[in-house]
Amino acid sequence: MFSQSTRMIHVHSDIRGPLFVEALRMQAAGTPVLKLNTGNPASFGFSMPQSVRQALSAHMDDAVAYCGVHGMSDALSAIRQYHTSRGLQNVKEDDIFIGNGVSEMASMITTALLSDGDELLVPAPCYSLWSNSAYISGGKPVFYRCAPEDDWNPDLEDIERKITSRTKALLLINPNNPTGAVYKKEILLAIADIARRHKLILLSDEIYDRLLLPGVEYTSIAALAPDVPCVTFNGLSKSHIICGFRCGWMVFTGSDLEEIKAAVSSLAALRLCGNALTQLVISAALDDFASTKAMLVPGGRLYEQRAATLNGLTGIDGLTFVPNKAAFYLFPSIDAKQFDFESGYDFALKFLHEKQILVIPGTGFDWDEDLRFRIVMLPEPKLLTSAMNDLREFLDVHRI
Ligand code: PLP
Repeated sequence: MFSQSTRMIHVHSDIRGPLFVEALRMQAAGTPVLKLNTGNPASFGFSMPQSVRQALSAHMDDAVAYCGVHGMSDALSAIRQYHTSRGLQNVKEDDIFIGNGVSEMASMITTALLSDGDELLVPAPCYSLWSNSAYISGGKPVFYRCAPEDDWNPDLEDIERKITSRTKALLLINPNNPTGAVYKKEILLAIADIARRHKLILLSDEIYDRLLLPGVEYTSIAALAPDVPCVTFNGLSKSHIICGFRCGWMVFTGSDLEEIKAAVSSLAALRLCGNALTQLVISAALDDFASTKAMLVPGGRLYEQRAATLNGLTGIDGLTFVPNKAAFYLFPSIDAKQFDFESGYDFALKFLHEKQILVIPGTGFDWDEDLRFRIVMLPEPKLLTSAMNDLREFLDVHRI
């Protein structure tokens, strides 16, 4: 048998890993499963806004040729305006790269940035795209702790402790997956200061920045630190319900990034261009905040689904959670001492077998401090209420 690349040894893709495969096996055998493993709104009956549908059908013929390495000019201009309105300074169109989702951008930046053994500070818990992209690039993800006791904000002392001579960059996922946290401005300022002092590049995955609950303020770290080298990531998968279109981008700001940008240009040129069809909708989508916002106010699906989930979890003995401020995820913890589970995986496998509900345990998000799992709050409120009831019953059966 041929051996795989050593770069694959630590790669883990749990969201579509063994638990998901088991759920598919159960479904094929005739058992329906409520799959709460991926943040894929369209699979729960959300549809793309009319603004996106119209832009796509009106301009289809413009996307037939390969487009420029950075992207199509209308789309680049819309992205430049969007991030300028978010406070990013001096953004030019050639500071932007559009590609096949934030996922492709993550692998491009880690490939361009990390030599063998270079370290990327990533949050724990982490949306594992990022830790995996670091491994695949030959780099090393080093996890800094986000603190549930502080609304899941990053622990600044832990960040400082983890910096070594090999640390090249620090990643923020803000708003966060899997916690749904939105970081405090003073934490962002302190992180910018750490980056300044230790000469680190900041990477900021902001794909959920339009999915804020009412009253939540958001600041993009690049806006707070125009002098610090920063790459900001965003895309339309979630805010405009088009995960399958594969539409994401990155924006370079701050100083000293010329060589990294040139390396990303080479990588972008190698794949000729990003998917041009998806770029047709960027300008219309970024003008259409209304359809995203409507999901997050009382009466909107994301708002009501969150309310149903939080209600259903409140008062379960041995389970605690920090309410999310954005996105549609929750990352509750179970007090392992009170239950008969051997691990987070054991909990999730039993829950799947006994209640036909698929959730991904904390280890899938590089979190092993305590027993946690992620809930994707995308089904209709009634279904979530019933799933939370199932969870309550399930935990009662497994209480020691
Ligand atoms: N970044 C975060 C934090 C995510 O949660 C996701 C998807 O769930 C992605 C990136 C991937 O986004 P895309 O569909 O643009 O590749």
